[in-house]
Amino acid sequence: MKKGKVYLVGAGPGDPGLLTTKAREVLKRADVIVYDRLIARQILQGLPKRVVRIYVGKRSGAHSLPGQDAIPKILIAQVEKGKQVVRLKGGDPFVLGRGGEEAQRLRQAGVDFEVVPGITSAFAVPAYAGIPVTHRKLASSVAIVTGHEDPNKSKKVDWKKLATAVDTIVILMGIDNLQAILEKLVEGGRSPESPVAIIERGTTKRQRVTLGNMRTMAAHAVACRIAAPAIIVVGDVVNLRQEISWFKS
Ligand code: SAH
Repeated sequence: MKKGKVYLVGAGPGDPGLLTTKAREVLKRADVIVYDRLIARQILQGLPKRVVRIYVGKRSGAHSLPGQDAIPKILIAQVEKGKQVVRLKGGDPFVLGRGGEEAQRLRQAGVDFEVVPGITSAFAVPAYAGIPVTHRKLASSVAIVTGHEDPNKSKKVDWKKLATAVDTIVILMGIDNLQAILEKLVEGGRSPESPVAIIERGTTKRQRVTLGNMRTMAAHAVACRIAAPAIIVVGDVVNLRQEISWFKS
């Protein structure tokens, strides 16, 4: 029997053109694709008919599969059948997407795997909104932070320290906690006038960018019915959008 293998592959942030050449090659050879919610439909539609597709994404809040360990179990079961398995994840598999945990489980199970990095939404989504996350004159550092943490985790994001530690803050999964996050950043010393952008469905035809500042954005987001998937960018670089916005959605 052929030896099975898992490829932990990043699918990019939405625009199917942002799938890497290596990801395309690996997808062409796959027997099984195990994929999440935020994968561009065009990427899946382009796959050969014979490829088995297994959806493991969440439906708004509810897990479509029971238990945290369900995904590694599916991967391992397929590999044991000798399959070439692509675990396709949004953006980059190792940026806030549990790819690290899946790799640990595969290693523990003695399963052969490879990682194919992807273009992370943390950088590509601001870029499509005309916001460079660093800039020689405005921002020398950038942090990527989750706005939605496991409540049982012992070490949580220290928003107050983060407030002044970096120039640009890119927050993923932060819409539900937007108000609390912005308040903590201001308490920590971020200027209340600091510009904020929220980009929904970035890099896709349905991209929407909403601008505000630390004081106004939470109420504005509710009024504009901002919804996930969205990225929050805090920092002076947000103002560059006026000048270098380029993507027409
Ligand atoms: N590994 C992924 C991130 C997974 S977490 C990556 O590298 O991009 C999922 C979060 O990413 C979403 O809740 C949202 O905050 C962000 N995200 C992913 N795709 C996005 C998109 N097209 N537009 C806006 N936000 C996006």
